[in-house]
Amino acid sequence: MRTYWGYIAAAALIAAWSSRAATAVIVVLSLAVVSYATFQFPVWCGAVNRNGTYCRRNASGILMGCNLRQHRWQKIKLVVLRSKAGDISRSIFPTAKEKFAAFIAIGGLASAIAAVIVPVVTD
Ligand SMILES: [Zn+2]
Repeated sequence: MRTYWGYIAAAALIAAWSSRAATAVIVVLSLAVVSYATFQFPVWCGAVNRNGTYCRRNASGILMGCNLRQHRWQKIKLVVLRSKAGDISRSIFPTAKEKFAAFIAIGGLASAIAAVIVPVVTD
């Protein structure tokens, strides 16, 4: 249950948008969805091992590595520095599940921004 609360937040977010809920409600739900995808979504670690394979240990969220501290740093560095452009999408989003998590994160972020901008534009 704990690992799937993000889906509930996402469903609540969609409901909030369609019922034109208050901006604050949408922003809070959006950020909840983003942080779920970034820090809790169950994915593979995906960091590169010394032998060139990708780490298949369980990790939580697209920005987090597994329990090896070195892998966490490697993922954060990949995201921040974007040094090897070709490797980024493969190492951070190696499977459809990771791509889905990234989609949720981007969607939530877009939703948070839209929630702030839409009332300004439409008023
Ligand atoms: Zn790892």
